[in-house]
Amino acid sequence: MTFSPGTAEFPATAASGPLDLVASAISSQRNGAFAQLGSAFLTRLPAAPLPAPYVVGFSAQTAALLGFPATLASEPGFADYFSGNPTREWPAAALPYASVYSGHQFGVWAGQLGDGRALGLGEVEHAGARYELQLKGSGRTPYSRMGDGRAVLRSSIREFLCSEAMHHLGIPTTRALCVTGSDQPVRREEMETAAVVTRVSPSFVRFGHFEHFYSHDRIDELRALADHIIDRFYPACRDADDPYLALLHEAVLSTADLVAQWQAVGFCHGVMNTDNMSILGLTIDYGPFGFIDGFDANHICNHSDSQGRYAYRMQPQIAYWNLFCLAQGLLPLFGARYEESKRSERAVEDAQRVLEGFKARFAPALEGRMRDKLGLETAREGDDALANKLFEIMHANRADFTLTFRHLAQMSKHDARGDAAARDLFLDRAAFDAWANDYRARLSHDARDDTSRALAMNRVNPKFVLRNHLAETAIRHAKEKDFSEVERLAAVLRRPFDEQPEHAAYAALPPDWATSLEVSCSS
Ligand code: AMP
Ligand code: MG
Repeated sequence: MTFSPGTAEFPATAASGPLDLVASAISSQRNGAFAQLGSAFLTRLPAAPLPAPYVVGFSAQTAALLGFPATLASEPGFADYFSGNPTREWPAAALPYASVYSGHQFGVWAGQLGDGRALGLGEVEHAGARYELQLKGSGRTPYSRMGDGRAVLRSSIREFLCSEAMHHLGIPTTRALCVTGSDQPVRREEMETAAVVTRVSPSFVRFGHFEHFYSHDRIDELRALADHIIDRFYPACRDADDPYLALLHEAVLSTADLVAQWQAVGFCHGVMNTDNMSILGLTIDYGPFGFIDGFDANHICNHSDSQGRYAYRMQPQIAYWNLFCLAQGLLPLFGARYEESKRSERAVEDAQRVLEGFKARFAPALEGRMRDKLGLETAREGDDALANKLFEIMHANRADFTLTFRHLAQMSKHDARGDAAARDLFLDRAAFDAWANDYRARLSHDARDDTSRALAMNRVNPKFVLRNHLAETAIRHAKEKDFSEVERLAAVLRRPFDEQPEHAAYAALPPDWATSLEVSCSS
């Protein structure tokens, strides 16, 4: 097996097996690739090898996205390649790269951060789309600060499973190709072992990348980065009066849409620092995330978040706050069309106007999703109140988020015969019954019959989400070198809206032991 990080360096003649072809398809040398922005943005360095790596999880769906064969993971050398272990020397120009960014963490300016344990391999172009591949956990970089450059098996499995689950829920996200593991010990609260997750995304650029160059007053680099994103992802911004303001507008829209989707499915990101916010509005950096089981609007999924800054109900506000940081970072680029003396004042006004667009986008986005979740065919006055009332009684009863919505599909607009499944989730039956009566009254205004409403609802209310205890079970088996549960769970989560009666256990309420599970920033 040969190892080649880029087409330009090792032409196809050197390649024979499927893995060689894959390796030669990955390049950081193509025009427009992030790595082509150059040394102000990244540092090239080799990955730090992991001893005797093995495959823990693989996504044939992500492989297909890249034009890679579904059988790739069984190729000899696969685990080595996707752990960053070189089997031949890296040519200097094609070394993997760590990018520099800064950011606000927990509301405070944190200064320079950067890819402390992630390395870009390059891009793959397939079926007219380009994806960047990144190893996470592949060793120290110039941006590691006090960190060891590693990721543990536990958090790597969680990232792998959740990015695949989110994608199949229809929520924008980075993807994951695979997880590899190694017996190399890694110290966290206790000793764990190392793993690498290979992430795949059109771009890994974060709000924090812009904040970085802004904070160093490096306006040329700031502009080059914005140009890179515009040229690659939002070429229509060039037609706007102010392309950079148009870029901010795109970030506002995609972020508002993303958070509306998180809220509608009960997903908590856990660490919405500006360095964990994708400029493309993708869910990125899965750490102490969680899907809410028993609904608590104040749910905090990150055990390290003592103030609840990133609690479920805070997420829209925090997204808006983060967009302010992004706008601040882009500010020097705004207003080129105004005369010099008025420029900065006008730029601020423009930015504020664009940021205001968040509210105009978020509220209807969430309302629309809630209408779909409730199976309301048309929009009517009072729909918001109906949805809010449901959240209120779910909160008071700690009713299971996923099952409540899934069970609503069984209710009938005619009588209470189908209420039982949802009703059973509420201790306060009278409160549920009162809401159910309002719901039925509302449904009577829609022409749609129960059957077609139920079908539509089951397409938006998942039966299966990555509950903490499901991930934990897969992790416990994986620690014993049994990776079959990672694969089984991933397969269930790829069909979150299907009944899958044979997998009913994966849709059940969390077991008692799950209440003691704590997920922290430690990863
Ligand atoms: P996170 O909280 O995972 O988003 O990480 C915040 C910053 O810390 C980023 O710059 C990460 O690259 C860096 N970081 C987190 N864990 C490690 C680690 N084990 N080694 C090096 N850098 C890390
Ligand atoms: Mg991060």
